[in-house]
Amino acid sequence: MSKLDNLLNDLVIANRILANEDVVDAYGHVSVRHPDDPSRFFLARSLAPEFITRDDIVELTLDGKPVREEKRALYLERFIHGGIFEARPDVMAVVHAHAEDILPFGLADGTPLRPVIHSGSFIGSRVPVWDIADKFGDTNLLVANVEQGQDLAKALDSHSVALMRGHGFAAAARSLIEVVRMSVYLPRNARALWRARQLGGEVKYLSQGEIDARNRGYSPYSVETWRAWHYWANKAGVGDMVTRPDQK
Ligand code: MN
Repeated sequence: MSKLDNLLNDLVIANRILANEDVVDAYGHVSVRHPDDPSRFFLARSLAPEFITRDDIVELTLDGKPVREEKRALYLERFIHGGIFEARPDVMAVVHAHAEDILPFGLADGTPLRPVIHSGSFIGSRVPVWDIADKFGDTNLLVANVEQGQDLAKALDSHSVALMRGHGFAAAARSLIEVVRMSVYLPRNARALWRARQLGGEVKYLSQGEIDARNRGYSPYSVETWRAWHYWANKAGVGDMVTRPDQK
């Protein structure tokens, strides 16, 4: 398989994992930047991630236009991906989802969503909240054009995850494996934090040193990272599509 075929294969796997882990449902999507042309990215056509195969993947420019003629419907919120890829040359993969467990943290400002469990360290020490109403007033809350995508990317800034008030989150990382891992652990971290709050008393967040220590040395294709990818893919029924890192 060519490098690009491998990547698109991984994009299919990423869709299936996010669906199976309940990060996305009928809505939500994952994209990857073109490895040889930073001004383009790949995203499925408008379809629930659970059903996506290689044929559903469309190549887009950063302003959300398909590179080739495309008659099939596209995701309305593809501008989230283009906006982040445009603002962040370091980012190679983006997830947008509506996972319910993260939503309260974008609505109430008393408890910031920050890492409280070791696997939550991947989300980074600060998770900004973007409110579409700040700039665009009363909308349907969807990121439906280039300008809104750019504004979200501005709020994300140099961070890995931004919450979208009343809507969901956007996550950005250096690879598909990393962005999937982050998106799986983000709601889990949110649940642990939520439950700790219910127990009462003061919540102990991970320290900056603990977050740094956990993230140090975790390359996207380390054996530890790949192990989770393999496990999730197998659970999602696409274990046979996974190639080992040494076979890439
Ligand atoms: Mn959405």
